Amino acid sequence: MANYQTHLNGGVLIGAAAALVSGGLGMVNAVEMPFVALVGTWGGLAPDLDSDNSRPVTIMFTYATIVVPTVALWRFPFLHDSLMEGAIAWLIIASIVRGPLCLALKRLTEHRGIFHSIPAALIFGCLGFLWSGRRVDDIPLQTAIGVSAAAGYFTHLVLDEIWAVDFEGRRLKKSFGTALSLWVPSKLVTVLAYGLLAVLGGLTWEGLGGTRPEGLWEDGLGDAPITLAQDAWQRFRSLMESVL
Ligand SMILES: [Zn+2]
Repeated sequence: MANYQTHLNGGVLIGAAAALVSGGLGMVNAVEMPFVALVGTWGGLAPDLDSDNSRPVTIMFTYATIVVPTVALWRFPFLHDSLMEGAIAWLIIASIVRGPLCLALKRLTEHRGIFHSIPAALIFGCLGFLWSGRRVDDIPLQTAIGVSAAAGYFTHLVLDEIWAVDFEGRRLKKSFGTALSLWVPSKLVTVLAYGLLAVLGGLTWEGLGGTRPEGLWEDGLGDAPITLAQDAWQRFRSLMESVL
């Protein structure tokens, strides 16, 4: 397995390339280019979230604890009607990422499981695409972010496979074929991964055509669920106001 530094270098390289190419193609502007590069770098590190080696995992979670709630506030404007409300929403999401999500990942994943697979790389790309835009104008940026994320992730898998080749002994190590795989030994996990990929892939496809997931939701279920979520948040807000 390639080490953390190798993956960091690979991720930075791919992220920078994605930023330069998307910038050159006019898909993103100068302010957005560093984000494209960062997402690619993150993709280069993300598959090892399943490892028990604590340092890289801690670094990635620290990064996610800051980035995920910040992007969520931007992605869902109703979360920040006021500065105070935004701050509370940020804290709640950050503690979910750092607490339950981090624990679940550590408990539920095994090293070189589904995180080291081709469907996982595509899921990561779709998530990047879906989270990085909320307007039709955002599609070029979303595409750049999604491609950078998937390319960084894919590079990690390739590096892991390259490191599985024992060049001096000219033979393959036992780990060969466990990173760039299409499935894992557990059928259930494999089916769940492809199910998730089908849903996110479908949403990404609709997104490329200009339809937001929120729009599909409203078409299918009416705006009741969104109103419900907003109502719940309103109620929580008034509760907070009465306590503070
Ligand atoms: Zn790895």
